[in-house]
Amino acid sequence: MPTLGPVDAAQVPRFAGPATFARLPRLDEVTAADVAIVGVPFDTGVSYRPGARFGPAHVRASSKLLRPYNPALDVLPFDRLQVADAGDIACNPFSIDEAVAAIERGADALTGSGSRLLTIGGDHTIALPLLRSVARRHGPVAVVHFDAHLDTWDTYFGTPTTHGTPFRLASQEGLIDREASMHVGIRGPLYSDKDLTDDRALGFSAVTSPEIEIDGVAAAIERMKARIGDRPVYVSVDIDVLDPAHAPGTGTPEAGGLTSRELLRMLRAFSDFNVVGADIVEVAPAYDHAELTGIAAAHVGYELLSAMAAAQRP
Ligand code: MN
Ligand code: MN
Repeated sequence: MPTLGPVDAAQVPRFAGPATFARLPRLDEVTAADVAIVGVPFDTGVSYRPGARFGPAHVRASSKLLRPYNPALDVLPFDRLQVADAGDIACNPFSIDEAVAAIERGADALTGSGSRLLTIGGDHTIALPLLRSVARRHGPVAVVHFDAHLDTWDTYFGTPTTHGTPFRLASQEGLIDREASMHVGIRGPLYSDKDLTDDRALGFSAVTSPEIEIDGVAAAIERMKARIGDRPVYVSVDIDVLDPAHAPGTGTPEAGGLTSRELLRMLRAFSDFNVVGADIVEVAPAYDHAELTGIAAAHVGYELLSAMAAAQRP
């Protein structure tokens, strides 16, 4: 059956039309979705600048220029996959625990009919309930985590569940494959070198931002392939993996990051992997300028969808 794609820009100008991601149909306009895009407007887990609760609407607004054909992967992602926008998961802004439970329920409901999820946050706390939902379906998954930060820290102000801790908790709960998970783009000051030894014990390897500068993007892709193999993989993209020059609109910026060109090239490599879910988090539009961060995040979503579509090449 042919898919229902984005609204035709020859009929409705790009600055008009629906407010869905890439002007795609809503989930209730299609019979079933191969990939559902869902927003999670939650930022109660942030430690510094708040505002990622406005991320889903901003990334959708910044996605209006995305076009149907991706020449870099030679794929029409919305032809090969039925992609639809599922709206937002409503969650409690005053209770992290209640919000986390609601996100997990929302993800379970959306994936119950076999859809994969591309989630737009929201702060990085949301990766924990999303991984709980993914692991229930697929078992422990390889996580490829693009971020300036490890996000395997311990409690903050006595609170275990924050945007700095989702991958510690996911590892402790057995949601991730400890032989196959990794960070990409790590950089910046830490509390101590113990952060790194704790992180390795939790099952992560790392390709740091300085290593990408020295060895190049191709070498980083080879390390991802060696680490992941053919395992089911979950991709989590904290937009602060990009340099603040490329993504100023985020909560905990760190200098010395990736360019959007480097990140998009690495994401195309996921056409060789079995991606079972993905998220894009930490877009905080109040600190954005000229939609730089929103556009970067929209293209991250487009390349992830394209990679999933290219992986299904007949
Ligand atoms: Mn980060
Ligand atoms: Mn993060």
